[in-house]
Amino acid sequence: MALMLDDYFRMKGIRRNVSITVAHWAPRPMAMFGPVISDPMTEWLSERNIEVVNGFRLARIDGGSRKLIGESGETVDYDLAIVAPPHRPHDFISQNPDIASPNGWLDSNIRDFRTSKFDDIYGIGDAIAPPSIGLGMAGVFAHFQADTVASLVAGDILGSYSPVPYNTVGLCAADTGGDAGWIAYCDFRKKLTVPNTPFPDCRSMGRNRLMKMAHAIYEKYFLANIYGAGTHEWRRRGKGREDTGEAL
Ligand SMILES: Cc1cc2nc3c(=O)[nH]c(=O)nc-3n(C[C@H](O)[C@H](O)[C@H](O)COP(=O)(O)OP(=O)(O)OC[C@H]3O[C@@H](n4cnc5c(N)ncnc54)[C@H](O)[C@@H]3O)c2cc1C
Repeated sequence: MALMLDDYFRMKGIRRNVSITVAHWAPRPMAMFGPVISDPMTEWLSERNIEVVNGFRLARIDGGSRKLIGESGETVDYDLAIVAPPHRPHDFISQNPDIASPNGWLDSNIRDFRTSKFDDIYGIGDAIAPPSIGLGMAGVFAHFQADTVASLVAGDILGSYSPVPYNTVGLCAADTGGDAGWIAYCDFRKKLTVPNTPFPDCRSMGRNRLMKMAHAIYEKYFLANIYGAGTHEWRRRGKGREDTGEAL
């Protein structure tokens, strides 16, 4: 987002009047993915003159003086702050001991995603993310977890069905400003299964114009399709019919 804002202000011809700061808790940008991801990201932010405040844990926001205030009292001034809210489990999960793990997030596991007490209740996606299984929050994780769970549900109904093994890969496509996009993917298998593995196994597929096009296609078609404005929605609108929920 910082790189895209940089792009936007450059296009408007006012970048020199604007300072952009990324303040985040990690010791380096995207440090949790290891140097394969963190090194180039740090370089891109620096070459675009974007300031980075590492190790910043937001405690509160003072709207009057327009300051973000960190847990140690450090401050970041802002005119516009774009802030990710704290991640926490939904109350209906954390307050239900039948489905919550001790940390309050949905109980689950990476073998079959069944909750411990009920073999027909599955936990996937953001609700099981960091504390329950040690994976971040991303639609791509939820997507592959759903593949495995759907195959298990089919197996329960049909009596026999080979479960789809959980695909532990995550993919990230980003617009990195200018005429470049970037796509990287990480396999979390070792990180999830071997204790003390520091990082997932990540590869960068490159940062260039082709990746920018690939990112645009990914957002415009794949994600838009998931969120309801893709081919299904357009076909429904095109036919001018009520959405009955049936597949077209
Ligand atoms: C701005 C933004 C950009 C993102 N970009 C990407 C990206 O590029 N790639 C990527 O992989 N991921 C991305 N993500 C992350 C991705 O959107 C999430 O990880 C993913 O949507 C998680 O899916 P989920 O089904 O677990 O949860 P959700 O999509 O949050 O679905 C949970 C559903 O439960 C419903 N719900 C909540 N409480 C109740 C209740 N009491 N009763 C009934 N229903 C309830 C909610 O309304 C919601 O519809 C992005 C997230 C954000 C916010």
